[in-house]
Amino acid sequence: MTAYEPVIGLEVHAELETRSKMFCGCAVVDSTTGEPNRAVCPVCLGMPGALPVINRQAVEFALMVGLALHCEIPAFNQFARKSYFYPDLPKGYQISQFEYPLAINGWLDIDLPDGSTKRIGIRRAHLEEDAGKLTHVNGHSLVDLNRAGVPLLEIVSEADMRSAEEAEAYARKLRTILQYLGVNSGDMSKGVLRFESNVSVRPVGSDELRTRTEIKNLNSIRALTRGTEYEIARQTKVWESGGEVQQATMGWDEARQVTVVQRVKESSDDYRYFPEPDLPIVEISREWVDRVRAALPELPDAKETRFIEALGLTRYDAAVLVAERAVAEYFEAAVQAGGDPKQVANYLTGDLFRLMNQEGREREEIGGIKLTPQALAKLVTLVQQGTINHGVAKQLMESIYAEGGDPAALVEQRGLAQVSDESVLSEAVAAALDENPDEVARYLAGEDKLIQFLMGKVMRALRGKGDAQAIQRLLAEQLEARR
Ligand code: ADP
Ligand code: MG
Ligand code: ZN
Repeated sequence: MTAYEPVIGLEVHAELETRSKMFCGCAVVDSTTGEPNRAVCPVCLGMPGALPVINRQAVEFALMVGLALHCEIPAFNQFARKSYFYPDLPKGYQISQFEYPLAINGWLDIDLPDGSTKRIGIRRAHLEEDAGKLTHVNGHSLVDLNRAGVPLLEIVSEADMRSAEEAEAYARKLRTILQYLGVNSGDMSKGVLRFESNVSVRPVGSDELRTRTEIKNLNSIRALTRGTEYEIARQTKVWESGGEVQQATMGWDEARQVTVVQRVKESSDDYRYFPEPDLPIVEISREWVDRVRAALPELPDAKETRFIEALGLTRYDAAVLVAERAVAEYFEAAVQAGGDPKQVANYLTGDLFRLMNQEGREREEIGGIKLTPQALAKLVTLVQQGTINHGVAKQLMESIYAEGGDPAALVEQRGLAQVSDESVLSEAVAAALDENPDEVARYLAGEDKLIQFLMGKVMRALRGKGDAQAIQRLLAEQLEARR
């Protein structure tokens, strides 16, 4: 039987977080909470005779994204009318870009779960305007045009992905870059970032491009992955049973976890694209491009390399830390506050992430937790200086995570300072050995792992505050002496 492989290309719509809309002065408001139809004017309501004006900041944000994705920025770009009628689009057309997009021919390196990277081509990125929102209630449809005219950047990849896993990695990386650039929050639940997955399958080894379907309504990265997986399996079955995949626009039904045909795909001819007569061609000077390029913030790949080379982190830790802008910022603030980078990374990706998971907090919410980066830096330093041991540090971390507080002050107040006085430790070790003669005998008879049991006894006697390394050494010595 023929084996099939998927071919996937993603189209991503990212709202640009400008203050005003793409072609008018209306404010960009949160379209999930704002009172409907407040941020509107004749331009974004599509009143006859109202004329659009290009938002310079939106063009600059788009340039930032284009450059971050290693695109060429052509000397000019041009807006075009894309005709279609829908009640959330009052003009009867969307201003988009067609023949002359703002950015072309870029790439993005994605990080795969096995630690490898793969380069995915970026075909183009172009500016357009968002449509409004429809709400369907009791047989009526309500229109909210707050979102109509919000700047939207459409980023189109090459069909370079070969698994749902790669599509997910692409989505995550792109989302991270947009967050680093500060042009998009990445909050998919608010719809400011939306993915469409184009999927086809073909016999392994062939380089043909078979008929694809496009999946819309992917409201989370999980939905993107599941929808793509579903479509790969469905199409594979169609070909295997001797059928033929039909080109179509599909929707993702979140409740049923299946794709459903929405419409048989129209071609670009159907949109009757033509140059937007109400807007000038946008010339992009090389000086502007250079200025924007020079002002780009450090992006995740560069940050990861710096974390490895300058701070000595492992590739794994560095990748985890840079994956979320807020986490990278938290980490850097802790290092800035004097925390040892490797130790901070350990506590952060281990114990702190565990605490956040338990509470159901997203990693991007790390900026708002009670354990400040400065407190984490202090905790780490207290351990390194031998003032507290690792177990106490973990305990303190939980307490500060829940209630806040200063590590050094809490160590004082709660009497948590490490016990490292040799004679005290030595006595505790001797007592533990005296109280557990059976375990001592079994240890001496070769059951090595019993040293952990004895270690636990000593630690308990010292109320968790003993110097673990010293205890380990004394235990070994005293056990040898009893042989
Ligand atoms: P349109 O503008 O009509 O949506 P494009 O040709 O611009 O279509 O492609 C949109 C996306 O679909 C791109 O990401 C592209 O890589 C991807 N794509 C195109 N053909 C295929 C195919 N046969 N299989 C999978 N993806 C495809
Ligand atoms: Mg498309
Ligand atoms: Zn407006």
